[in-house]
Amino acid sequence: MPQSSAPHLHHLDQKRRPLVGRSIALLAAFCLLLAGVYAWSLWSARQGQLQQTAASTSNMARALAAQAETSFKIADAILAETVERVEHDGIEGAAGDRLHERFLHIAAHSAEVHGLFVYGADGSWRVTALANAVNANNSDRDYFRYHETHTDRRTHVGRPVRSRSSGVMVIPVSRRIDRADGSFGGVALVTLNLGYFGRFYDRFDVGRQGTIVLALDDGTLMYRRPFNEDLVGKDMSKGPVFQMMRSAGPVGTAMLTSAVDGIERLYSYRHLEGYPLVVASAQSKEEILGHWWSTVFRMSGVVAFALAVLVWGGVRMIRQIRIREQLEDELRRAGATLEQQNAALKTLADSDGLTGLANRRLFEDALAGELARARRSGSQFGLILCDVDFFKKYNDRYGHVAGDDCLRHVAAAIAGGARRPGDLAARYGGEEFAVILPETGLEGAMAVADAIRAWVAALAIEHGDSPAGMVTLSLGVVAGKVGPEPDSAWVEAADSLLYDAKSGGRNRVAACSASLAIG
Ligand code: GH3
Ligand code: MG
Ligand code: MG
Repeated sequence: MPQSSAPHLHHLDQKRRPLVGRSIALLAAFCLLLAGVYAWSLWSARQGQLQQTAASTSNMARALAAQAETSFKIADAILAETVERVEHDGIEGAAGDRLHERFLHIAAHSAEVHGLFVYGADGSWRVTALANAVNANNSDRDYFRYHETHTDRRTHVGRPVRSRSSGVMVIPVSRRIDRADGSFGGVALVTLNLGYFGRFYDRFDVGRQGTIVLALDDGTLMYRRPFNEDLVGKDMSKGPVFQMMRSAGPVGTAMLTSAVDGIERLYSYRHLEGYPLVVASAQSKEEILGHWWSTVFRMSGVVAFALAVLVWGGVRMIRQIRIREQLEDELRRAGATLEQQNAALKTLADSDGLTGLANRRLFEDALAGELARARRSGSQFGLILCDVDFFKKYNDRYGHVAGDDCLRHVAAAIAGGARRPGDLAARYGGEEFAVILPETGLEGAMAVADAIRAWVAALAIEHGDSPAGMVTLSLGVVAGKVGPEPDSAWVEAADSLLYDAKSGGRNRVAACSASLAIG
């Protein structure tokens, strides 16, 4: 392929490249968009799941707090009544019997109340709800010591203990009884059944790893689901729930890691109103997001497949574009080559192989065209026919190869005469040449002819068998207005004038106006 067309094609290549680049960018952008939308939807689903669980744990904490408040209010009311009666009526004789009856009635009718007691100032059991009272002493219990040493009349909630009478885990709720003089007169105690709380808590669904906690607000653990007696009384004040409560207030929800088992959970806690107690419910993060994770896995498979299909299709498409572009480039190159070859063929077909001048065919086409044009426009036209003198002898003397060489030099001299844009020098045949001179009058044509003759003479090509001693040219010139005569009349006229030049002595120009030579 000729190199001359390369820069042109290269320029086209550069202009077309962005189509592939843009396709890749579009594909990448689409993949990113898909991945982005997917990631965003997963994220918002995750947030939604967490928010929904936060609402549910916080509602649960509210329900737990309400339940606990109710139980403690019942205990509180019983204690208030008991203290009032003991301080007013005493516990001896009929008053004591009546209180005992009252205790029996309450114990029988409220599920959360386990036991009711009145202790004397020495800690001995004075009145109980038990039918067969054992004569025990509770002066060693924390709550007893508390009231003994604190004069305040408020309800005291103690850490869970195992009941001396029944062996059941109970929460002691107590008040101080004063003597008339204000000195310590004993303690009224209601014990709440810890198992009752446990059964209530078990009704909530917090998942396998979830938890429900009831604790004193100093951090003492009272109940934790799943229940483990060893944990009762444990100090949780350094745990994350209490830490958060100290900073965030009486109600809150947060993702925290348990100090007991190290599991990360979403906790909702709530401080009871009027009692030094805190309830909390929690669900493990793993379980909350379990469904979400399975969705992630399932959807990720689908999205990954979709992305793979997209990329596969995109890559195929881009490859096709590339192949098409390459084909188009090749086609364009082939087209350009063909065009050049056609042009080369046309020049080849129109030119004479030996001299490079126009050949006889092109001469005849051009002559017909120019004559027609001159006829239409009424402009002048000139035609020169020339013939090398004694060329047969030149060939005979110097050989055919030298003859060809001579013809090439003569042709160059003739071409030098046809210098205007419309002019055409042609090899008419053998050692005969023709020059077409559009828009040229007789004088002009004669000048061109004589110039050609002079140039050939000036070449001074040695010709020993010519009287002139060198190669010379005879020329016939006809020029003027073009009439309705056939084109061949011009050639015949010029040929006849050429004959005149030959017979007139050669190396000369014979000229005649068209009106005389043809008309
Ligand atoms: P005149 O002065 O009357 O023109 O004499 P001449 O010898 O030139 O006459 P003629 O036209 O009879 O001879 C032409 C010769 O030109 C014949 C041929 O040998 C020679 N010739 C024609 N074409 C070529 C060519 O392509 N190469 C060569 N070397 N010789 C050619
Ligand atoms: Mg001849
Ligand atoms: Mg000749």
